[in-house]
Amino acid sequence: MSLKTKDVVLSEDRPKTLLLQKHSDYLASYGLNKNDYEYCMTEYLRMSGIYWSLTAMELMNQSSRMPKEEIISFISTCQDSESGGISACNGHDPHMLYTLSAVQVLAMYDRLDAIDVEGVVKFVSSLQQEDGSFFGDKWGEVDTRFSFCAVMCLSLLHRLDAINVNKTVDFVVSCMNFDGGFGSKPGSESHAGLIYCCVGTLSICKRMEVLKADELAWWLCERQLPSGGLNGRPEKLPDLCYSWWVMSSLSMLNRIHWVDKKNLEQFILACQDSETGGFSDRPGDIPDPFHTLFGLAGLSLLGDTSIKRVNPTYCMPQETIDSGLLTSNLFQDIKSEYDYIIVGSGTAGSLIAHRLAETNYTYIVIEAGGFGHHFHDIPAFGPLLHGSQYDWGFETVAQDNACLAMDGHKCKLSQGKIFGGSSKMNNMIHVRGNISHYVDWFHGKYTKEYIEEQFNYIESEIFNLSHLQYDSNLSDAILNATKELGYKEIKHFDNGFMKSTVTQYNGKRWTTSHQLDPANVLTHVLVEKLLIEKSKCIGVKTSNRKILARKGVILSAGTINSAKILQLSGIGPSELLKSLNIPVVKDLPVGKNLQDHIGTGLDLVLFDEPQSVTTSDIMDPMSVVQYFYNGKGPLTTPGCEVIGFISTKNEEIPDIQYMVLPVGITSDRGSHLRRNLGISDDIWKNYFEKVFHKHAATFFPIILHPKSKGEVKIQSKNSNVPPLINPRYLSDENDIRSLVEGVKFVIKLLKTESLKVIGAHLNDTPFPSCKKYKMFSDLYLKCYVQHLTLTSYHPVGTCSMGLPDSINTVVDTSFRLLGVKNLYVVDGSVLPTLPSGNINAAIAMMANLFFENVILKNIDKIETCQRIFLVELLHRVCLVG
Ligand SMILES: Cc1cc2nc3c(=O)[nH]c(=O)nc-3n(C[C@H](O)[C@H](O)[C@H](O)COP(=O)(O)OP(=O)(O)OC[C@H]3O[C@@H](n4cnc5c(N)ncnc54)[C@H](O)[C@@H]3O)c2cc1C
Repeated sequence: MSLKTKDVVLSEDRPKTLLLQKHSDYLASYGLNKNDYEYCMTEYLRMSGIYWSLTAMELMNQSSRMPKEEIISFISTCQDSESGGISACNGHDPHMLYTLSAVQVLAMYDRLDAIDVEGVVKFVSSLQQEDGSFFGDKWGEVDTRFSFCAVMCLSLLHRLDAINVNKTVDFVVSCMNFDGGFGSKPGSESHAGLIYCCVGTLSICKRMEVLKADELAWWLCERQLPSGGLNGRPEKLPDLCYSWWVMSSLSMLNRIHWVDKKNLEQFILACQDSETGGFSDRPGDIPDPFHTLFGLAGLSLLGDTSIKRVNPTYCMPQETIDSGLLTSNLFQDIKSEYDYIIVGSGTAGSLIAHRLAETNYTYIVIEAGGFGHHFHDIPAFGPLLHGSQYDWGFETVAQDNACLAMDGHKCKLSQGKIFGGSSKMNNMIHVRGNISHYVDWFHGKYTKEYIEEQFNYIESEIFNLSHLQYDSNLSDAILNATKELGYKEIKHFDNGFMKSTVTQYNGKRWTTSHQLDPANVLTHVLVEKLLIEKSKCIGVKTSNRKILARKGVILSAGTINSAKILQLSGIGPSELLKSLNIPVVKDLPVGKNLQDHIGTGLDLVLFDEPQSVTTSDIMDPMSVVQYFYNGKGPLTTPGCEVIGFISTKNEEIPDIQYMVLPVGITSDRGSHLRRNLGISDDIWKNYFEKVFHKHAATFFPIILHPKSKGEVKIQSKNSNVPPLINPRYLSDENDIRSLVEGVKFVIKLLKTESLKVIGAHLNDTPFPSCKKYKMFSDLYLKCYVQHLTLTSYHPVGTCSMGLPDSINTVVDTSFRLLGVKNLYVVDGSVLPTLPSGNINAAIAMMANLFFENVILKNIDKIETCQRIFLVELLHRVCLVG
């Protein structure tokens, strides 16, 4: 039987752009006339109305137009002192739905203190039944909606421990239908709204593995009609609220890309009322706050950057969720076994976890750092993370040929110890680099086109990439100056220069961890070592527990820490392990082959006037308004505005990269930036302080493929002791020569008209320890680069990928650790050589390639085996029959 399709036709004169101001005006004036018939009629929905309107306003960054204090005091008058529950309006009966709305509103205002939280917990838990289901109130109606409200409410209050979570899940699972969907009770028909509630419940309870994800996602996708809108079940008209419920469910299932996003966007925009503002259920109907919220939330899920990001489970701004409110591990139910354990939530670990959520595998991400604060996503504040609790605080051992201007001749090597890893403190520069190198890493297993496909995928589905939202006078001047010297403006890796492309969303830092459900991340937990039995990795050991992995452990702890964890687990050079009395599990060159992009050139270029952001620009309230209101302005600055590549040997393939920052280390007069690098007192006083009256910029030449290589090795069996890091910077003379040529190019650049016009000039203060050489001679520059050696924070190579019999190989071209089953390493450490450019994109590409070719292919194999088994079985049954 085929079902009839009902749909609407979108007229040509429908709204096609988002009318933000109108919606804000509509909601700000809604209910102002308290004698309105409509307002009186909605009294029984008042609390939810406040939640819909406030959330919509928050998403538009307009919540200041709502009467905050009046709302808070209204909510406190609606709490019933006896049951603890909250009603829609003073004098009404308390109900689960309004209790949740009240908690959501107070969570957004960060004012949960306005109600008796214990009363709410008592009310919600008292409504749970023996079979795990929930009543909505004392009248005893059971519905999966109330299960969802209960867990959402208690998780916002960190009190999931007050109910029986396992029974809650069992009841929801008992409402699952053969099509993978859910209804309100066992046996009720599947419905998009109830699917959202059930998937949301399972997501909060961390039990997504019980879903039939593919069947369910198909059912949901089939809700899309030719108009682009989605209906709640077959034969129904499309409706904006179903668009949200279907989309948010697909988003939790990681399959939002299964709907036609463009058509859906057109449908949602068509539901706007261009006269009054607000959205309605479908084009041409009367708008209301309920549909207005779901219209805006839907557009946010579709990636509209003019609206704040919405959390698909809670239907609240993601920043409220990220603020730590929901991310405590206090009540986290840690299981003793998962299919996969991912160690580290950095660029690679978060991407893999995000993609694992597409499968039915169970997984946990274990992260040594904390969740951080959403202020960490303000790009201009990136440097503040250096040296903080969110930085591992690594430094090299004393260097013989480099870092001579730093205290103890040691260079600092910051790496992120935070949810998001190093990408939470990076400069957000996105570069693909030279693709042919990646083809070489895999020894021909993948073509150039395939690698490009992987980049296309991460650039469209994982990262949010953006142009600079703020740049200084310097960036155009540099592009003109390099043109004067014959360099073209480029788009990808090539000889030439370009403005930076950055990983930002609406002016905020964007990392792979932004897509990850924090419920699957265990923070503040250090993995001490791997559990290995008979050459098979079976799990990990943390300070207080063992967690087992059925299918594998994926080590994504970064170049320094992945090597450290392997060595602590007995996988590494046998002489090192033996010297520390660690039983050798596998003798491998773990920790060797350490390479890093290094450069030089601090405050080598000076100006009489500032070129860019100063501290006062950052503190300026207008900058704050600009940033929060439209994601633009000085606070969005990533630091590096222009990058470029040249060959110092006049060859086709560049050997030096430039990063140009319109600020110098002296910009903050020594309060912070100097400490991030560990510049010694002598050098600071006798070189940098001398130019305090000027404004500096950083023209940072970086050797793309240094020949100097070093190593990482543990110095103790104690997992809390940092390893020794000896990169042997500039130990190869060729590297010194390349850097000297890199500085000479900067000197040449300063002679161009384009830079002279803006007053750029060379810092001719003699460098203290190099005074014996003629200024800017080769010997002087050699001395200079050996003193001011700077890392780009791109260590790679300590668990190199390669062919099994190659000297440096630790993992094979499928990321499998040689000789140990069920153990994979996927992060910067497996890169056998440095990419030609900043490395974050390459690491993300590798992580995606790993997921596609190792995890997904494995599932395919299992399914194929099962199919073959079934076919064989049928065959036998037929023969017997
Ligand atoms: C200051 C700075 C600026 C940079 N700028 C750029 C740039 O502009 N562009 C670019 O492309 N690249 C840049 N990079 C480099 C890039 O960001 C990193 O190379 C990349 O993020 C590394 O990804 P990863 O997955 O290998 O490791 P990471 O992102 O470092 O993640 C490793 C994670 O594992 C966790 N971890 C480690 N040990 C343990 C343990 N024992 N138990 C539990 N968890 C553990 C860590 O806390 C961390 O969260 C920069 C890096 C830094 C530090």
